[in-house]
Amino acid sequence: MRHIHDNRLCISQLFYAYLQTEIKYMKEATRYIHAGSHPDPSTGAIMTPIYQTSTYVQEAPAVNKGYEYARSQNPTRTALEEALAIIEHGKHGLAFSSGVAATDAVLKLLQPGDEVITGNDLYGGSYRLFTKIYQKFGIKFIFTDTTVISNIASNITANTKLIWLETPTNPLMNITDIAAVTALAKSSNILVCVDNTFASPYLQNPLLLGADIVMHSVTKYLGGHSDVIQGALVMNDTALRDQLYFIQKSCGAVPGPMDCFLVLRGIKTLHVRMRQHCENGRLIAQFLQNHPKVAKVYWPGFENHPGHAIAKKQMKDFGGMISFELKNDRVEEAKRVLSSTHYFSLAESLGGVESLINHPASMTHASIPREERIKNGLSDALIRLSVGIEDAEDLVADLQQAIG
Ligand SMILES: *Cc1c(COP(=O)(O)O)cnc(C)c1O
Repeated sequence: MRHIHDNRLCISQLFYAYLQTEIKYMKEATRYIHAGSHPDPSTGAIMTPIYQTSTYVQEAPAVNKGYEYARSQNPTRTALEEALAIIEHGKHGLAFSSGVAATDAVLKLLQPGDEVITGNDLYGGSYRLFTKIYQKFGIKFIFTDTTVISNIASNITANTKLIWLETPTNPLMNITDIAAVTALAKSSNILVCVDNTFASPYLQNPLLLGADIVMHSVTKYLGGHSDVIQGALVMNDTALRDQLYFIQKSCGAVPGPMDCFLVLRGIKTLHVRMRQHCENGRLIAQFLQNHPKVAKVYWPGFENHPGHAIAKKQMKDFGGMISFELKNDRVEEAKRVLSSTHYFSLAESLGGVESLINHPASMTHASIPREERIKNGLSDALIRLSVGIEDAEDLVADLQQAIG
């Protein structure tokens, strides 16, 4: 077993070493196209095949080509994990069957009695996993406004083992200074994991800012076409990678090869899609800001957004996620708008090429108790947009007719 694992690591590391020599000369767009892709050794196929298999024939007991059973390793997944590591500027990638499965794997590094400091404006599914699943196993979660670094510092105890950050947050677009948090955590030996789903690796690379682990809901921008559920972790530290790989293999939340293939394909256009998401996002944020019926727009690209300076420092651009509130702040009015758009489809999720509109209070964030939501500034009338890459004029016209 040990021998097989080492063998597999050896193959992947040799390839990784080879790619790194090439990758460092590549400019970003080239890297997105070539990350993790290499002609299939058996046929020369330029695209990594979908290795739809559960097991691999061995030459003799424990003599194999580095692949023994597909929960442990699959070549389509290996190619994707290499690509994920490269585009997130990390050494190791691990793919999971969903974003929450990736989050779950990080939490399984912890022991009862350990403490986690995290944000008070979190993805609803992360909040649910923390409070409804892990709290009962004796892990303590401290929810605080992580945009204020002293809130984190004052909550650190000898038991703090993990800081879980989301930036920009979902759905209020709050920005936390990743470098400031990792500097604080380093001195206390605390792991920092950043949920980088909203930014995508194109806009923000937390490992370069000192984070230990980056988590992605691959379902969103990385997949990019609303056709896959998948998650990922990327890290530099090899011992940490081995621990997380052990959890991935032992707990089994692995993605299938077809999904890995779709994400490999998605990554090749991530930079092109993200540029358009950002451009459309900027136009729509400005349109909403100038609309007489709109009270407040949450988008870090505005100079008066409290996190603007930090977003500018740690992100390449401001993305295509925007939330807003209408002036009369009435749920019925928000619901009317939510039901009147044509190009913006009323749906959960985000990051696909098509635009989506969502009502966090009753949809994505319904798992957070209402009083918690209100306390943290998420009103019942908040509307969240995932701006797609359709023609921006069409999108603006759609919102114009819906808001009225
Ligand atoms: C969607 C999402 C997740 C969860 O990912 P799944 O792929 O749905 O399991 C986690 N964090 C953020 C910010 C998300 O948007």
